[in-house]
Amino acid sequence: MSTLPKIAWIGLGIMGSPMSENLIKAGYSVTGFTLEQDKLDRLTAAGGTSAASIAEAVEDADVIITMVPASPQVEAISYGPDGILENARQGALIVDMSSITPQTSVDLASSAKEKGIRVIDAPVSGGEAGAIEAVLSIMVGGEKADFDEALPILEALGKTIVLCGPHGSGQTVKAANQLIVAVNIQACAEAVVFLEKSGVDLQAALDVLNGGLAGSTVLTRKKDNFLNRDFKPGFRIDLHHKDMGIVTDAARNVGAALPVGAVVAQLVASLRAQGDGGLDHSALLRAVERLSGQQV
Ligand code: NAD
Repeated sequence: MSTLPKIAWIGLGIMGSPMSENLIKAGYSVTGFTLEQDKLDRLTAAGGTSAASIAEAVEDADVIITMVPASPQVEAISYGPDGILENARQGALIVDMSSITPQTSVDLASSAKEKGIRVIDAPVSGGEAGAIEAVLSIMVGGEKADFDEALPILEALGKTIVLCGPHGSGQTVKAANQLIVAVNIQACAEAVVFLEKSGVDLQAALDVLNGGLAGSTVLTRKKDNFLNRDFKPGFRIDLHHKDMGIVTDAARNVGAALPVGAVVAQLVASLRAQGDGGLDHSALLRAVERLSGQQV
């Protein structure tokens, strides 16, 4: 009989599916709930158990991991008669890995505390590939004792796992991460259009650039997307739009100026308004191409 904590997993999307499968591979028993039947079937095929509701998924769980798109979904799964707080057992630990506003994390931790339930915010960076390979960076906010309890589980999902401070701190660091990633993708996209219009071999150029100071994880992970104009997500523009809203709002609240971030936030918003919200964030290339007079 396994002595590992029993896991409930809510939200089996692009990230949640491979992450939950890594826990199953590490020997954990995982009961999951998500909105799409095919994702529940995938969990069962991987050796997990599918639940018919959030209540059914969380009732016996020691640790409840959530990985849904944004703050409204975290609130929808957490609160109300069918939500996690009403149906989890006292003493359970919620590990919210969604990228949401820091304030939503703070509010959730305080509501959960009234029910004797603990919460840490643990958003991730590394994308779908990082989720599949279990090499995510995981930035955590919350109590040290709860971080220590979750650490063995997080070590089955990621490689760099850091407690950043009190509730909401993980989300603040994740917001900074999304600022850096968006600006980096935008710079790469501008370089791609410049290089192509200049008639330089793009593959050769990106290879040599990635070996120098201009190299980055973004360029390594997204090079083929640029070369092949392959914008299958990955990380959807819709989600990056949400994250640019989080970082610009949080920065404004603390009086930090993000002049370049603000411009890139507008470019992401414009791409989405033009119908590209479902594409991978490397599709920022399409925005630069349009601005440069190319038909896309
Ligand atoms: P996704 O849209 O692929 O998956 C979200 C999942 O949440 C879906 O399967 C959906 O069924 C489920 N869900 C939504 N509302 C629900 C509800 N009420 N009850 C149960 N399930 C519900 O999104 P994703 O790409 O996996 O991203 C999840 C989170 O991780 C987001 O906050 C995103 O910003 C963050 N993130 C994503 C990536 C990435 O590369 N995709 C990388 C780092 C962080």
